[in-house]
Amino acid sequence: MGNILEETKFIMKKYNIKANKKLGQNFLISEEVVKTIVNSSEISKEDLVIEIGPGLGTLTKYLLEQAGKVICIELDNKMINILKDRFAVYDNFEIINEDVLKVDLKNMIKIQKEQGKIKKAKIVANLPYYITTPIIMKLLEEELELESITVMIQKEVADRLIAIPGEKNTGAITYSVYYYAISEGIIEVPNNSFIPEPEVTSKVIKLNIRKEPGVDPKSKEKMFEVIKNAFMQKRKTLLNSLTNNKIFENKQQGTEILKTLGLNENVRPEELTLEQFAKISDNL
Ligand code: SAM
Repeated sequence: MGNILEETKFIMKKYNIKANKKLGQNFLISEEVVKTIVNSSEISKEDLVIEIGPGLGTLTKYLLEQAGKVICIELDNKMINILKDRFAVYDNFEIINEDVLKVDLKNMIKIQKEQGKIKKAKIVANLPYYITTPIIMKLLEEELELESITVMIQKEVADRLIAIPGEKNTGAITYSVYYYAISEGIIEVPNNSFIPEPEVTSKVIKLNIRKEPGVDPKSKEKMFEVIKNAFMQKRKTLLNSLTNNKIFENKQQGTEILKTLGLNENVRPEELTLEQFAKISDNL
């Protein structure tokens, strides 16, 4: 691996690039972190890698060497010319100049797989932090045919996403991630691994998409509605939150449902497992 800091400075100078804060541009300059992201993605020549926000192409360069195909999605058109210049020699490289939230990823993966060479699709990214949650939710909720998602995000968000439901540090989103994926924390990344430095510590996480979802409720939509409402009011008991938000018709109905599941009426939402939320929604 060459000297990433020097290379990054050189490219920024050559193309007169100033990092755009509004687009969450913090460019990676740590070789150790780049290596860790690429290695933990476990990419092979049968894989399609979708890279979100390639920026100057720091990760892209290594992804192109290992993957069957790399499709980059980058919103900033200033980056597009740089990436085209840098990777012109690669015939497995494609770039889309678009907001990732607007891209039809399902169709993209389908087309690549139909062509025969690609067996699995993986997401790899150092994400723009201002839209971490919408991007992760899009990747999970669209039920894409994905193998894994390896991303760098803010540490605080990362810890919530990969927490185990029923344990510490959870929120409604913990349950969504757990439903779709088995997650792992890969490495914590200090601010000085980027230019410019972000204001927060970062963390790389990997979400390994489950073949079968974590639980099997009668209605997935109902279950997530219950979870969302349970976490809407902080520090309230589950019974009060779900009654106030009209998920339970009244307190009596709520108490009865909780009792059937062997739950105390003072239980707090974060104490429940995903299975228990599934059972509550099944009982409604
Ligand atoms: N991958 C590069 C790296 O590691 O140095 C850059 C990462 S930087 C944290 C995030 C990148 O996402 C930037 O290049 C930014 O322009 C891009 N970006 C921001 N919003 C985006 C969006 N809605 N869709 C696609 N790319 C976006």
